[in-house]
Amino acid sequence: MASYPGTSETGPAFERQPSPGDGAGPDSQVLDGQVLDGLADGDAAGSDARLSAHWARVRERLQGDVGEVEFRMWLRPMTLGGVDGDEVTLLLPTRFLRDWVRGHYADKLNELWQQEDARVRRVDIRVGGTVAVAAGSVLAPVAALPQAPAPAARQAAVEPRADMAAPLDPRFEFDSFVVGKPNEFAYACARRVAERPSSPGFNPLFLYGGVGLGKTHLMHAIGLELSRKEGKPVQVAYMSAEKFMYRFIAAIRSQSTMEFKEQLRSVDVLMVDDLQFLIGKDNTQEEFFHTFNALVDAGKQIVVSADKSPSDLSGLEDRLRTRLGCGMVADLHATTFELRISILEAKALRGGVAVPSKVLEFLAHKITSNVRELEGSLNRLIAHANLFGRPITLESTQEVLHDILKAHDRRVTIEEIQKRVAEHWNIRLSDMSSARRARAVARPRQVAMYLAKQLTSRSLPEIGRKFGNRDHTTVMHAVKVVAELIETDADFSERVELMRRMLES
Ligand code: ADP
Ligand code: MG
Repeated sequence: MASYPGTSETGPAFERQPSPGDGAGPDSQVLDGQVLDGLADGDAAGSDARLSAHWARVRERLQGDVGEVEFRMWLRPMTLGGVDGDEVTLLLPTRFLRDWVRGHYADKLNELWQQEDARVRRVDIRVGGTVAVAAGSVLAPVAALPQAPAPAARQAAVEPRADMAAPLDPRFEFDSFVVGKPNEFAYACARRVAERPSSPGFNPLFLYGGVGLGKTHLMHAIGLELSRKEGKPVQVAYMSAEKFMYRFIAAIRSQSTMEFKEQLRSVDVLMVDDLQFLIGKDNTQEEFFHTFNALVDAGKQIVVSADKSPSDLSGLEDRLRTRLGCGMVADLHATTFELRISILEAKALRGGVAVPSKVLEFLAHKITSNVRELEGSLNRLIAHANLFGRPITLESTQEVLHDILKAHDRRVTIEEIQKRVAEHWNIRLSDMSSARRARAVARPRQVAMYLAKQLTSRSLPEIGRKFGNRDHTTVMHAVKVVAELIETDADFSERVELMRRMLES
């Protein structure tokens, strides 16, 4: 997942540093869900108050026990659902978080509740809660839909130093980043850098991973967090590698390279996104290398992203590659189904539109490559539902996202079809292209041709060639015969349908 060049003490998620100024926020609204029959016998108001006090103390002690980073990452969105007899219900906004908290903190929660109130026998952890509850938590989905303007305060992008850097996108907060197994390490590293820039072992921070997995989001989040820090202002410069190059070239042209260098070297944190862009740009790489060294030597933080790990970035100068791998290297893995569901849940909650879980599951199943596309699909569904005032259903989803879904349909190859059909009908694979015409061989061959026509975008002559150089009229005939049989023979129809489903899944 990531390399730890330093000692294990530099591991990020194990910080137990409470940070000041974090007590406010969701902690103030501890009683959010419905309070069922209270444990206390007194009047309802009194028992509510007691319950809130218990819950507030449980939270506080939990935070103290697990530490600030862990608490913020997993536990802050948790709210009190209610109490029923000897059972306390706690709510988390997504299934992913619920499972995580159940798996990691259930015993601790039980213990803490019992210390507050000995009558509590069980703590039940469930999915639930409201947008307000999640506000300020890890899962608060700040990412506004394109058509929904963000509140004015958020909108104001943080201005970078001089005009050298790019502005930070106010939607890319830590709080709107959904954490799951594939990205928890990168997330923890980013948080750590935002909390304590230039810590040994974390400089430079090198984030890498495929397109749309959250690299840029995390870099902006670091910048936003740092720019809000109280006390001495931290100068943060974020830019794409491309922009770095253009600025550098422009500086050479206008004979102001000294100024360019000085500006760059005066920042506290330099973030360069998509470094792979510098491959093959030797002069720019050289300049970046010197800037990099000057900043690190001066105790400044560097954060870099790329699509590959330092060692896989071939074409990068060796000495730069070596230095890039010297700090913390963290990768963002491809998303899992669970993470995609959590991201969709968070974004749907934010969109304020009820999206059936069937639809979320369908999307998470179909759109697996990158979060940007997942997000875009959901936004489109929501916009469509708003526009026409219709609820989102599985059917409407398939209609609205027709083009996207089509592009994501798994590509089935003719070879795969031949192999599966041969297996299923118990014939040799070689018979798919042999000249044998016995029914036992010819029929499955026709089925394979039919499925090739149905499931791939190959033309009839192309399909014919793959089946022992047969003529396209033979394929046409096969398609016709199979289509007719499907109409008349229920058994046969079922077999073909089964094949199709197997191939499509
Ligand atoms: P990258 O830079 O790795 O290509 P981005 O950071 O630009 O990817 O992410 C693409 C989009 O997906 C952004 O809108 C981002 O907010 C969103 N996104 C990616 N990962 C997550 C996540 N874990 N939680 C919430 N949003 C995410
Ligand atoms: Mg990016």
